Amino acid sequence: MANNDLMDKIVSLCKRRGFIFQSSEIYGGLANSWDYGPLGAELKRNVKDAWWKAVVHNREDVVGLDSGIIMHPKIWDASGHTQNFNDVLVDCRKCKGRFRVDHIKGKCPNCGSHDFTEGRAFNLMFKTQLGPVDDGSNTAYLRPETAQGIFVNFINVVDATHRKLPFGIAQIGKSFRNEVTAGNFTFRMREFEQMEIEYFTDPEKADECFANWIKERFQWYVDLGMKKENLRLRPHGADELAHYAKGCQDVEYLFPFGWSEIEGIAHRGDFDLKQHTQFSGQDLQFHDQVNNRRFFPYVIEPSGGVDRGLLAFLVDAYHEEQVKEDTRVVLKLSRALAPIKVAFLPLLKKNGDIVALAKKLKKDLQNHFMCVYDDSAAIGKLYRRQDEVGTLYCVTVDVQSLEDHQVTVRDRDTMQQERISLDSLKDYLLKKIL
Ligand code: ATP
Repeated sequence: MANNDLMDKIVSLCKRRGFIFQSSEIYGGLANSWDYGPLGAELKRNVKDAWWKAVVHNREDVVGLDSGIIMHPKIWDASGHTQNFNDVLVDCRKCKGRFRVDHIKGKCPNCGSHDFTEGRAFNLMFKTQLGPVDDGSNTAYLRPETAQGIFVNFINVVDATHRKLPFGIAQIGKSFRNEVTAGNFTFRMREFEQMEIEYFTDPEKADECFANWIKERFQWYVDLGMKKENLRLRPHGADELAHYAKGCQDVEYLFPFGWSEIEGIAHRGDFDLKQHTQFSGQDLQFHDQVNNRRFFPYVIEPSGGVDRGLLAFLVDAYHEEQVKEDTRVVLKLSRALAPIKVAFLPLLKKNGDIVALAKKLKKDLQNHFMCVYDDSAAIGKLYRRQDEVGTLYCVTVDVQSLEDHQVTVRDRDTMQQERISLDSLKDYLLKKIL
C-alpha cells in the first residue's frame, strides 16, 4: 500500500468510526486542531493510563502531579520560552508555501524552488491576559509544555513526600503551541497533550539514569504492541542541543510520512532548577540530610506526546487481510489499548430472550472493562465493524444459547470461535483481557 493511501485510510477510518474528527468541522474546520470522538476518547485514556501505570504506579521512585495550564508569567522568562521558544519561518516566493526553516534544507518541498523570503522568528506561545485590563501589563501564557509546572513544584513535592534522590515527578496534561506549519493529521497540533517526567538525580548518577530512561521509554512502546522495526532511537547532534543540555535522544516512529519524533528524552543538567532559583529568589537546591549537603540535582526528562503516540499506535495496528473474497480491516491494538474489550451481539434482535441475555452478559462485565452491546446489523457486518475498531472479543448470543447456556466467543486476531458456557464466561474473559 502506498504511504499516502495508508494515511488516507487511517484518517478516513478515524472519522467514520469516531476516533478523531476535524475540529470545528461545521464551521469549515480549524488548522492543526482535532477532536477525539467516542472511541478516540477511550483510546486516549488507555494510552494515558498505560503510561501512568508504567511510570508512576509500577515504580517506587516516581510520583504524580497535576499543575495548572496558566502559571506565573515569570516562569516562562526563567525557562527561556519568552526569549527563545521561536520557530523561524520562511515563505517560498514561487508557490507562496510557508515552512519552518529547520524542516526544508533550503529547497521548497512543494515546488523545488530555492527562492525564499528572509526568515522571521515567531514565538509559539499563546498569549492571554489575567484580569479585566488589556493593557499588556497582565500578559500570561498557555503553557507550551507541562515540564515547568513540575520544576516550580519541586520543593513542594520533596517536602510533602520526603523523597530522596533519585526520584521523579510525572504529569500528563494539555500544552499549547501556535504551530503555523501544516501538520500531518494529529502529529502536529496547536492544542495537544504531553506525558512528561522530570527525574531528579545526583549529578554523578545522571548518565546512568539517562541511559536507563532511554531504554525504558523505548520498551514501553514495544510492550504496548508497537513493532520494533517501526521504532528507532535518534541521538541529537551537537547543533540540535540546547546550550545547557548534556544529551538528547528521540524515540522516532516510522509514520507513512517518514521517521518522526514521538518522544524525546533529554539530559538537562541542572539548568531548570538553577534558573527558577535565580528568577524566583527561592532556593530550589536539594538538601541531602544524610551527608548534610545542598546541591542542584541533575534532571533527566522523558517527554512524550499523547496524540503522537496514539497516532503511531493507530498506524502500527492498522492491518488489511484477505479473507476469501473480502478485505478484512482489523486494528490489532494491544489488550491495554483496545478501546472496546468485548462486544455483545445478539444473533436475532427480534428475539427478546436473546437480546435480554446479551444485555445481561454485558452488564456483568461492564464494570471490569469497556464493553458494548450492538444489534444494529447482521452478524457478519457486526464482526467486521468490531474488527475495524480493534475490539478484542465478540460474544454472540444465539437461539441455542437459550437451551445449552453457551455463547460463541470470537477472537479478533485469529477469528477462531469457541463455545463457552455462561458459568465460565466471565472468568474466561477476565483471564484473557486483564
Ligand atoms: P517538533 O520538533 O516536532 O516540533 P519538539 O521537539 O518541539 O517537536 P518537544 O518540545 O520535545 O517537541 O515535546 C515533547 C513531545 O511533545 C514531542 O515528542 C511530541 O510527542 C509532543 N509534541 C510537541 N509538539 C507537538 C505538537 N505541536 N502536536 C502534538 N504533539 C506535540
